[in-house]
Amino acid sequence: MIVDYHTHTLLCKHAEGNAEDYILRALDLGFNEIGCSEHIPMPGGFDEKHRMSLGEYMSTYAPQISHLREQYKGRINVRRGIEADFFPGTEEWVRGFIAENDFDYVIGSVHFLGTWGFDDVVFIHQYDERDVDEVYEQYFRAVSRSAASGLFDIIGHCDLVKKFGHRPTKNLRDLAWEALKEIRKAGMCIEINTSGLRKPVREIYPSESLLEMIHELRIPLTLGSDAHAPGDVGKDFDRAVALVERFGGGKIAVFERRQRSMLPVSRPAFA
Ligand SMILES: [Zn+2]
Ligand SMILES: [Zn+2]
Repeated sequence: MIVDYHTHTLLCKHAEGNAEDYILRALDLGFNEIGCSEHIPMPGGFDEKHRMSLGEYMSTYAPQISHLREQYKGRINVRRGIEADFFPGTEEWVRGFIAENDFDYVIGSVHFLGTWGFDDVVFIHQYDERDVDEVYEQYFRAVSRSAASGLFDIIGHCDLVKKFGHRPTKNLRDLAWEALKEIRKAGMCIEINTSGLRKPVREIYPSESLLEMIHELRIPLTLGSDAHAPGDVGKDFDRAVALVERFGGGKIAVFERRQRSMLPVSRPAFA
């Protein structure tokens, strides 16, 4: 079994291609499943430049994925996912949105610390104005709270805070361990997200030191490229699958209607 559960489309205004382009790429690569996980619409104009509106979700995304799921049945499983932001104060809105829509899985991601979009290159200068140790501490606390919220199935890019290559000076193992324990307690899984290899940090999310702890806690893994262009689907999955073999017992989590199964991972045919 080989899947890519983290993909975006032009609907989020910072990616290329429509959902079908991603599906076709996954078919080409011989994948069993492709999950569309567009950025969730948010209330009150929150970060509206980087996501579809609720209207676009209803009129375009939801019917499109339903249609494509039927169209490609028997060739590839198309899963309807969403990448939801964990942002304190919006939990109840997000909870309602998730409950009203029949997702196969929900990725929970921390992209904001307070109002700072810390993974947006436009605001990168703020790393210089802050204590990087504190930034990491805030980040892992937010991940912990996102798990405790009980809203999500998969933790997205679980050490995204390293994206631009800023590193803590302190050993934050205990803090990371607390966050991972919360993820374990919530019964969630963690994605191996290869997009970090395409970012200044040049590293998969999560790092191997985190993966060792994840392994120790027996937290399940799944796979995502975080593709923002169809050509990114399944990118570097030979490396991701090798990590599943080392740190995940060779099994990946797959989802249908938010029910998780664990299946043996297969090496991508193209690798
Ligand atoms: Zn995005
Ligand atoms: Zn993300």
